[in-house]
Formats: sequence, C-alpha cells, structure tokens
Amino acid sequence: QPLEIAGAAIEPTVSVGVATGTPGMEADDLLSNAGRALAHAKGSGRDRVEVYTDELAALATRRRVAEQQLRQALDTDGVGVHYQPIVDVGSGETIGAEALLRVESADGAHLSPAEFIEAAESTGLIARLGRQVLQITCEQLNAWSSRGGPGLQMISVNISPRQLADPGLPTKVVDTLNAAGVAPERLCLEIGESILISAQSTVDATISYLRALGVRIGLDDFGAGQSSLGYLKRFPLDFVKIDRTLVSGLGTDEQDTAIVRATVELAHNLGLQVTAVGVEYPEQLEMLQILGCDRAQGYLFAPPLSAEAFAERTASAS
Ligand code: C2E
Ligand code: MG
Repeated sequence: QPLEIAGAAIEPTVSVGVATGTPGMEADDLLSNAGRALAHAKGSGRDRVEVYTDELAALATRRRVAEQQLRQALDTDGVGVHYQPIVDVGSGETIGAEALLRVESADGAHLSPAEFIEAAESTGLIARLGRQVLQITCEQLNAWSSRGGPGLQMISVNISPRQLADPGLPTKVVDTLNAAGVAPERLCLEIGESILISAQSTVDATISYLRALGVRIGLDDFGAGQSSLGYLKRFPLDFVKIDRTLVSGLGTDEQDTAIVRATVELAHNLGLQVTAVGVEYPEQLEMLQILGCDRAQGYLFAPPLSAEAFAERTASAS
C-alpha cells in the first residue's frame, strides 16, 4: 500500500533473497547465501525475489577472482590502454581513437573489460581504474602530438556510471587535462544510456560543466539496450555511438538498417555527430556512407592496438 509521508505518496517495494539449506549447513553460511541473493535482487532493479542458485554462486566466485586480479594489476602496473582507430567515413582518414582498458593478469594474459568492468564497478575499484585510463590516455595523446606521432583530432574514453555519479569527476578531468597539456576539445567521454535513465542532478551538473569546458560527451552503445531516440533530445550531448548489434545487420537486416538510418537523421537534426561501432565488412561501410554517418570504428579498419602498434599503423597508412 502506498504510504503518505509529508503530503507525498511513497510506494514502498520489497526485495527478497532466498536460500535453501542442506543438512549440517552452518546458519551463518545459509544467511550469507540469502544475503547474496538479496544483493542480486537489489542489483537487478529491486522489487523482486531472487533465489540463491549454483549460477549465482559461480557469478560471485568469478567476481571475487576478477576483483583479486584487478587489485593485483593496479598494484603492479598491470593496467594499460589499447587504442582503436576512429575513421572519418567520408575521407577514410583516422581522425581519432577510442581508449580501451586492458588489464594484464599475473600470468601475463590480457583480461577483457567484459570480464572485469562489472566487478570493478561493484567493488568501487572503477574509480582508480578510470583515473588511470584517463591519465594514460591524455599523456599518450600529448606524447603523440609533441613527438610527431599520429595526428589525432580527438580521443575517446569510456566513463562508467559510478564514475559519472562521482561529484569529484569534473575536477579530476580538468586536473588530468592540465597535467598532460591536452585541450579539453580533444577529449570525448562516452557514457552509457543506463546513466541517463537513472539521471540524478549530479550527473546533469557534471555533463553541463564538462561540456562548458569544451569536453565532448556522447552516448555509447546506442541501440543495444532500451535506447530511446528521446535521450538524444533530452540531454545536451555532442555525439552518439551506434552499437555493433545494429551495425552488424546493416544492409542485410531491414529493421537494423531502418533504425540506423533514423538515428543518423535524428542525431544530425539535433546537431550530434554519429559514430558506428563494430564495422567489419566493406558493405557495412558503404551503407554508412549512403546514410551519411560521420565516423566508423571496427575490425574492418583495425582492432584495438597497443600505443606502439597504433602509431606504426597510422604512420604506414599515411
Ligand atoms: P564499447 O565502448 O562499446 O567498446 C567497443 C568494444 O567493441 C571493444 O571491446 C572493442 O574491442 C569491440 N570492437 C571494436 N570493433 C569491433 C568489431 O568490428 N567487431 C567486434 N565484434 N567487436 C569490436 P572491449 O575492448 O572488450 O570493451 C568492451 C567494453 O568495455 C567497452 O565497450 C566499454 O563499454 C567497456 N570499457 C572498455 N574500456 C573501458 C574503460 O576504460 N572504462 C570503462 N568504464 N569502461 C570501459
Ligand atoms: Mg565505448
């Protein structure tokens, strides 16, 4: 039942975690399993019941392992950044790059962000990781600019929901740009739509402040989730990145093609630039040219590369 508090109707919801015991199990273990199921219920949007299963147990173990590897990597210089070229669809020139976090585990293997971003978010380690990515990327851009490396207009960095909700983010960005001697106009920040769905005033203030400085802000993974064309209008943004799930059907899937066409048109009408992600085939690029998409990124041009490989590749291409 809704409650009325100070004249406002409050609708309480309940999140429940359920665990079943086995004979001989310790009460504490049973309770902590129920607690994990409850945390999962809250993490999945609240107002629901979740049961502790083998799958949940495996997820918790994977997270713990990822967390351990992350902490180790942060302490031992194992955090690096790879760069994927962003190409101008009209000229075919590399005009920028997306910085993608890479973490090296103790045995030298590279872990993919898909495996650890979630763990980094839920443990709060994302703050340290995010700072390092921003710093490494800005220093790299400055090094390239001052030593005749790839002449990039811009570099794009992913910002997680937790980072964007941190009121200290604008100061960190400004300090990092100043320390590296990079103009704000050359930095793009990519944010996910989930941030905008649950937009709080801090997020609005951060976006406005950074944009006023000249930093460009864009919506990432457009079309991957519950993307709505409405977000493009509601928030002051500079660019939108179309997710590779839509790009993969370009030219072959009528619906995907229609959505990409509509997105490009609307974005342009609103003054936003459009980047297509995950371009793998020449046919997709041709279609993007026809649709008037501004920029493209994908294995057709290059995978994410180490800084050295990126510089070599752009040098040999020009
Ligand atoms: P994203 O921002 O959508 O980045 C693009 C992802 O697509 C990258 O995966 C890239 O390797 C992959 N990709 C690029 N071109 C192609 C292609 O042609 N085909 C296919 N199949 N894949 C392609 P990656 O590097 O594994 O990153 C995954 C996600 O992790 C990123 O998705 C981004 O959301 C997140 N991420 C990466 N670095 C950071 C970071 O520094 N901070 C935060 N918060 N998130 C990051
Ligand atoms: Mg991105």
